Amino acid sequence: MSTKHDCIFCRIVRGEIPARKVHEDEDILAFHDINPHAPVHFLLIPKVHVDNLYDTGPEHERVLGRMLGMAGELARREGAGDGFRVVINNGRVGRQEVYHLHVHVLGGPEPLGRA
Ligand code: 5GP
Ligand code: ZN
Repeated sequence: MSTKHDCIFCRIVRGEIPARKVHEDEDILAFHDINPHAPVHFLLIPKVHVDNLYDTGPEHERVLGRMLGMAGELARREGAGDGFRVVINNGRVGRQEVYHLHVHVLGGPEPLGRA
């Protein structure tokens, strides 16, 4: 598993920083956002470090698909049964603050923030 030494989300993957986990398996970790913008707000990340969607390739397609594929089930389980948004910020203009690829899941009840 390739993690980056000084990346905050890699540090969460390695258990060096605590997080309120929503899901964990071999390739994916989901945890609550520390600064929620919606009643339900968690992040899905690949355990392998990749900065953002500029740097993904065919080798990431499976994990990208799995993250989206489980978003609805996790959103429902966390209490967002009436709707949710998924957001992936990429690069400075794309409002990315943490450079480890992550999928925001923002769920109701209303109102939903922009992430
Ligand atoms: P970005 O703007 O990069 O898409 O969003 C990064 C998100 O990561 C922000 O919503 C921020 O609140 C969240 N975040 C940053 N550091 C931590 C942390 O140490 N723990 C958790 N759980 N969330 C974090
Ligand atoms: Zn990382």
